[in-house]
Amino acid sequence: MEENYLNKSYWLNVQRKQEYTTVSDGDNFDVLIIGAGIAGLTTAFLLKENGLKVGIIEATKIGLGTTGYTSAKISMQHGLKYDYLIDSFGKDYAMQYAVSNNNAINLIKHTVEKNNISCDFKTQPAYVYTTRKEEVRALEKELRAYEELNIESSFVNSSELPFEIEGAIKIESQAQFHPIKYLYGLSALVSDSGISIYENTRALEIKGDKSPFSITTNRGDIKSDIVVVATHFPFLKNYGMYYMRLHAEKSYILAIKSEDKPFGGMYININDPIYSMRYHFGSDDENILILGGGNHKTGLKKDERESYLELETFAKEHFKNPKIISRWSTQDCMPLDKVPYIGQMTKNVPNLYVITGFGKWGMTGSTVAAQIIRDKILNNDNVNSDIYNPLRFTPKESASEFFSNSFSAAGGLAKRVLTIPLRDIKDIKTGEGKEVEYDGHKIGVYKDEDEKCYGIIPVCTHLGCQLKFNTAEKTWDCQCHGSRFDINGKVIEGPAVEPLEKVIIDQGDND
Ligand SMILES: Cc1cc2nc3c(=O)[nH]c(=O)nc-3n(C[C@H](O)[C@H](O)[C@H](O)COP(=O)(O)OP(=O)(O)OC[C@H]3O[C@@H](n4cnc5c(N)ncnc54)[C@H](O)[C@@H]3O)c2cc1C
Repeated sequence: MEENYLNKSYWLNVQRKQEYTTVSDGDNFDVLIIGAGIAGLTTAFLLKENGLKVGIIEATKIGLGTTGYTSAKISMQHGLKYDYLIDSFGKDYAMQYAVSNNNAINLIKHTVEKNNISCDFKTQPAYVYTTRKEEVRALEKELRAYEELNIESSFVNSSELPFEIEGAIKIESQAQFHPIKYLYGLSALVSDSGISIYENTRALEIKGDKSPFSITTNRGDIKSDIVVVATHFPFLKNYGMYYMRLHAEKSYILAIKSEDKPFGGMYININDPIYSMRYHFGSDDENILILGGGNHKTGLKKDERESYLELETFAKEHFKNPKIISRWSTQDCMPLDKVPYIGQMTKNVPNLYVITGFGKWGMTGSTVAAQIIRDKILNNDNVNSDIYNPLRFTPKESASEFFSNSFSAAGGLAKRVLTIPLRDIKDIKTGEGKEVEYDGHKIGVYKDEDEKCYGIIPVCTHLGCQLKFNTAEKTWDCQCHGSRFDINGKVIEGPAVEPLEKVIIDQGDND
């Protein structure tokens, strides 16, 4: 792949200080947290020293989910949000959302300072801006919502950005950090407190509708009285129909060194194409521009490489001699009503909790979530739990039937072992991934630079949705819920937990 060396999150260059084992068959817990991103680890952190036996299992390694690939702005300014919230849910609801996210910033700051977590935490103003005259009205409307909710802010016509803007709403005292350093800091504190962290342990299934739950993992079966599903997109199919209530949206990030003077503040504009910008001021005096954008629903971009190109073009237009030191893409879960789902996962199953749907604002969102879940587990009141309650929707039966039907169809196909002769895929170019028809079936084939071919059935093992080859990352991506698989069909990212069915390419038949 061209420029393959670049496809790595800048945040993941940090050295790991601690290794964690895998879970053992027969282990049991009072509380099991599944997923060690910012949501799972913050929840574990807030549960420490409460006399509970807490365990946290992570399918891969800490931080390799979306948190290791984020922009890490810690802000209550979530794009254009508050006018929408007042309009859709009323002023009290919007106020609660604002207050909970503002408190989350303070909690992160307090956690960092009290525990000396060295994570390049920096207080910064946040700006939502536009460069288009016709969009100023929308900003003014949002500003009126801020005023109604007493959110301290100001309207500005200029900024430190290296280009002109038509207007922006500025909020002071927001923040940013290095997300992986923060996660490593949290995990050390969690582990030192006696909470067990297990890596390379993937939850495959949860059995039962009351506690203790039996959790099947790739390392054996374990039990827990309470389970918190903090896996980003919930991997469970049978509880709460989250596959109907979330979709995955992908974005791309460039980490850039340039000859410009770094600007202060964190920025996002209001309409497509969206650009998110902020500098990372590293403890080693390294100043890196974090430029994000190129948003699209996962699996629906024809050629993902274009998204990187769009960002590169933007960088060249606005910054002096930009040198891209890394680039990466990631995705977040977008809830139907733009408010995360935090709380009891499904109506009739107490003690099973979910945290998901941050809509690209998961730094504060996960911290709000951790407090709600902690309070549910410890039977404390929490004023925020109602507005984020996942049970606020009743999904329609018909839609559920549609998805389960497509799942069974895919399941049937996946059981067949197919072999495809090399001559039938000779038109595929090196570095290309493509769907081909063979013997009445759709087969996904990728041909590497050495002309070796890899075949899979391009049907997601989560719920049977169609997969599309991602030209930039060389992965097979699910268009419905964002599961991603490598060229061998191995799960890179859930909600899928099972690998793709492989198709044997008969390399010998090459006439
Ligand atoms: C491009 C981009 C930029 C963003 N920028 C910002 C920003 O500036 N500010 C902000 O607030 N938010 C931002 N977000 C959103 C934020 O990054 C996410 O909402 C947040 O990181 C999600 O955290 P999480 O813990 O829920 O998920 P993750 O970090 O993905 O953690 C979930 C973990 O669960 C594990 N897992 C999955 N399935 C299983 C299983 N079956 N068993 C065991 N473990 C499992 C995964 O391996 C993973 O480590 C951004 C998102 C994107 C896409």
